[in-house]
Amino acid sequence: MDDIDVFAQSAIVASAPLGPSRRQYANAAAVVATPLVPPALLRRLQEIEIHFGRTRRGQPWQARTLDLDILLWSEGIWAESHPHLSIPHPALRTRNFVLTPAAMIAPDWRDPVTGLTIRQLQTRFNRPKRLDRAV
Ligand code: AMP
Repeated sequence: MDDIDVFAQSAIVASAPLGPSRRQYANAAAVVATPLVPPALLRRLQEIEIHFGRTRRGQPWQARTLDLDILLWSEGIWAESHPHLSIPHPALRTRNFVLTPAAMIAPDWRDPVTGLTIRQLQTRFNRPKRLDRAV
């Protein structure tokens, strides 16, 4: 692709489906360089999704051909409502299938919201949850 250069790509990590879909997902992350600003990159990623046969009609959890998200941006935070775009992607902190491939290629990249690296986010997410007890 002439406007997106891939610098690093992770291995593919399989994960169980989140909703009613019965198929497994194949997840991967890439570090890319692009002259596009985030909303233009989002449009470009959506064109690529369409090229791979994804339609945006129907249920949010339906089986997808391809879902491309922007997780982090070297310039920090981006928040916009039209088009809806928030960077860092909120799933970065709450989904192992995002953190695991991201940690393979960019473990020291910091989430500008929490100040934690991807590796630290992954450790925090996988730490056994403490159960608060009411007295
Ligand atoms: P999805 O169904 O996961 O592709 O997400 C649906 C919508 O999320 C997209 O149409 C975007 O407008 C919005 N969105 C918000 N933040 C992001 C992000 N960081 N990367 C990709 N999509 C995003």
